[in-house]
Amino acid sequence: MTSAELSVDCLIVGAGPVGLFGAYYAGVRGLSTAVLDSLPEPGGQITAMYPEKAIFDVAGFPAIRGRELVTNLVEQAAPFSPNYVLDEQAVGLERGGDPGAFVITTSTGRRIRSRSVVVTGGIGTFTPRPLPTGEELLGHGVVHFVPKPQEYEGLDVVIVGGGDSAVDWALLLEPIAKSVTLVHRRAAFRAHPHSVEIMNTSAIEVITNAQVTAVLGDPVTAVEVDVEGDKTVISCDRLVAALGFIANLGPLLDWGLDIVQKRHLVVDTTLATSVPGVYAAGDICEYPGKVRLIATGFGEVATAVNNAVKFMDPHASVFPGHLSDYAPPGAIGSPGSPGSPGSPGSPGTPTTAEAGLA
Ligand SMILES: Cc1cc2nc3c(=O)[nH]c(=O)nc-3n(C[C@H](O)[C@H](O)[C@H](O)COP(=O)(O)OP(=O)(O)OC[C@H]3O[C@@H](n4cnc5c(N)ncnc54)[C@H](O)[C@@H]3O)c2cc1C
Repeated sequence: MTSAELSVDCLIVGAGPVGLFGAYYAGVRGLSTAVLDSLPEPGGQITAMYPEKAIFDVAGFPAIRGRELVTNLVEQAAPFSPNYVLDEQAVGLERGGDPGAFVITTSTGRRIRSRSVVVTGGIGTFTPRPLPTGEELLGHGVVHFVPKPQEYEGLDVVIVGGGDSAVDWALLLEPIAKSVTLVHRRAAFRAHPHSVEIMNTSAIEVITNAQVTAVLGDPVTAVEVDVEGDKTVISCDRLVAALGFIANLGPLLDWGLDIVQKRHLVVDTTLATSVPGVYAAGDICEYPGKVRLIATGFGEVATAVNNAVKFMDPHASVFPGHLSDYAPPGAIGSPGSPGSPGSPGSPGTPTTAEAGLA
């Protein structure tokens, strides 16, 4: 996409799993859609942190790898041709004179006009938490992500951290790498208890109450670890620093939306934020009883997009109809196609042409 100007019915800020599913629903409702993300690839936390991990709690998939789920979500939205604007951060939100006339500016100076906005920004723009020492060796054996586990074949790997990323990567690399050692500064893990249980019965060497005090070699050849006052040196070819992320809503904090703990956007039962026409779904939204999972985000974004339709056209129905009656061409057992009679967008919903901005 080269145009610095873009006009759509619905701008989705954040191309994580929830934003991608939102793009599908926006397409179903006949909305022209743009999906904006500061990362260069869609998939949000999944693509950045655990593309190879198996996910077990997405409805309809007993198990699916992160990367595969993202590919499927992109494919599901594809019949509706959403505009992907990647590698650009949403910076400013201006409200136009008319209700629902927004202009969103991005980090490259692009201006996107939209009649509604669905913020699926997850934990915001996230950057890996740096190691207390050895961060200067990033790219010289020190990494924050493991996008291609097969590249670790035959290597000695040390992973630092006690959260899901650290334990998931340790489990992922254990059958591939020559050795995997996990160093964690506490005895208890933040990671999912089931993953920790599997790790404890695996060949992964787990060293707790330990801190990396020096990273040796360039490229890395070993790490010095302090275990309750005793120093030990562990040889390694790769040091995976999985200490979590510093998440920052950044510019979204200045959009005049009701925010709690500088992290979450407060929404009502329609997933509307405090600014009419701006909705939020997925990890970024907050309401009593909120559970931060992919499964809940999918439901929320369907609610958000369908309510955005109603916001733009008060005569439209919030309920989109039962989509199995008019699935996109090529879908299992479906005669319908987007835009055709009885197809997505037809049951009392505004079309792109009605929206007049596409
Ligand atoms: C290691 C790990 C394992 C997990 N395992 C599971 C699991 O098994 N099951 C499960 O249900 N959940 C799991 N989760 C949680 C799950 O990944 C999140 O709930 C999910 O990713 C939330 O999706 P989202 O689309 O709301 O946000 P995200 O995935 O965080 O995506 C948000 C996107 O918005 C973008 N963004 C933010 N601000 C801006 C801006 N200003 N401009 C442009 N783009 C912006 C970000 O770059 C990001 O790509 C796991 C999380 C981790 C870290």
